[in-house]
Amino acid sequence: MSLIPTSSLNEGGIITEAGNAAAFKTGDWRSNVPQWVPENCIHCMFCWIYCPDSAVAIDNTGEKTVMTGFVFEHCKGCGICAQHCPPAAKGKAAIVMVRDEK
Ligand code: SF4
Ligand code: SF4
Repeated sequence: MSLIPTSSLNEGGIITEAGNAAAFKTGDWRSNVPQWVPENCIHCMFCWIYCPDSAVAIDNTGEKTVMTGFVFEHCKGCGICAQHCPPAAKGKAAIVMVRDEK
């Protein structure tokens, strides 16, 4: 027995509008959250490249593109950004994953 009328649900696996990810706030899924340590950041942009969503904020208005933090409305807490952040290899992490206490 279905408790939800199926006619009220969108069909899965279909992108009805290209580039619509920004409209979906998926940040409330996470249990962990990245913390940025700006003094250790070398602005390599690996976190921006590897992030599976649009959760890394950048400023590309200057001579060099720089990271400016996270967009927590979209961050799922997957930790991929922290895994690919080069300063961690030298023991100076620029991204630290912590428990999300929200
Ligand atoms: S991957 Fe790390 S060092 Fe590179 S821009 Fe992101 S936070 Fe900064
Ligand atoms: S934790 Fe995952 S979703 Fe959040 S900024 Fe890092 S890579 Fe993107």
